[in-house]
Amino acid sequence: MNDIILMKQGEIILKGQNKREFERKLISNIKRRFEPFGKFNIYSLQSTIYVEPQGKCDMEATLEAAQTIFGVLSVTRAAACKKDKDEILKTAIDYLKDELNKAKTFKVESKRADKRFPMSSIELSQYVGGELHEKFTHLIPDMHNPEFTVHIEVRDLAAYVHGPALVGAGGLPIGTGGKMLTLLSGGIDSPVASYMIAKRGVQLIPIHFYSFPYTSVQAKEKVEALANILQKYCGKMRVIMIPFTHIQEEIRNNCPEGLMTVIMRRFMMRIAERVANEHGCTALVTGDNLGQVASQTAEALSVSEECVTLPVFRPLIAYDKKEIIDIARKIGTFETSIQPFEDCCTVFTPQKPRTKPKLHEVLDAESNLNIEDLISQAIIS
Ligand code: ATP
Ligand code: MG
Repeated sequence: MNDIILMKQGEIILKGQNKREFERKLISNIKRRFEPFGKFNIYSLQSTIYVEPQGKCDMEATLEAAQTIFGVLSVTRAAACKKDKDEILKTAIDYLKDELNKAKTFKVESKRADKRFPMSSIELSQYVGGELHEKFTHLIPDMHNPEFTVHIEVRDLAAYVHGPALVGAGGLPIGTGGKMLTLLSGGIDSPVASYMIAKRGVQLIPIHFYSFPYTSVQAKEKVEALANILQKYCGKMRVIMIPFTHIQEEIRNNCPEGLMTVIMRRFMMRIAERVANEHGCTALVTGDNLGQVASQTAEALSVSEECVTLPVFRPLIAYDKKEIIDIARKIGTFETSIQPFEDCCTVFTPQKPRTKPKLHEVLDAESNLNIEDLISQAIIS
């Protein structure tokens, strides 16, 4: 039996002239991702990526990985056979017998991309459906709400038989949307924000601010663990670690307490922008969420980003916490995010942070600091 994985392209098919380039990127991402699981012949035809194992491959692991690759709408493990109605029937019986034995109702759905095939899609479905009904006598045909659907696709090179497709990761292939710098804390939100931006085809570089000795080694390791989990969707993610203690102490000692958080944020933004420019990143990404905490009011966000010119993307801005948690669970970051290690912001939280900071007051407060020195010291160390 010729086991194969079919990956249907998502939004790429809507691309005009750039389609080839998107497809090339997707194929190279898939090749890299599947490398640990064996040797494959991977090619694209008719908006589908074909993944043919060459010799022994770990097909289960490949199928699981296939569902995490952005740019793919659906994933199906299928059996390939000759484009002949009896070969197709035999393949359906061999390949899907367990599912057919289990189901009570079924139908056959055929698609014929190769119009030279001598039967119409309906004729082929009726033929295979009728024969399967004879062989698995318990099965009742149900065209509207079947428990199991046998899919047949007659394409250019072969016919493919499979059960229901699995949902793909959607989005666009990583790398087609350029590079961005994502501010990754150890919380629930920023890993989800990173995932959402990566899904639009963006390669991410994570940056994290830590405050030894106020924050622990475990807090840093937690962020690395989060980046590690995100790698299966986002590709390589090596976290850039920035020491933040000195800056926080300077702010605490020289600025009004109520403005501490927003000034801290502005430093994060400035440093992030420098690092982003060094790495050719076109935007900054954060997990900010409107109204969630004092630093996330419209006024505070606007003052936070006033000191940078790169665009700041905040994909979670209008999400409810529950919606964010649902995604965190789905992508596997939630359990790590809730480990109780302090983040640098929580350590230096003022009693009463200002929810509507005024820019002129903030600029005034910042004039007590040597901004340039603080930034370059943090980046160099
Ligand atoms: P999260 O769950 O992502 O930590 P949060 O709701 O706790 O978010 P804040 O702590 O106010 O919100 O942080 C807002 C955003 O600022 C974060 O989503 C993240 O993008 C960025 N950020 C906060 N702390 C850090 C940090 N130590 N290192 C890097 N980025 C950070
Ligand atoms: Mg946080």
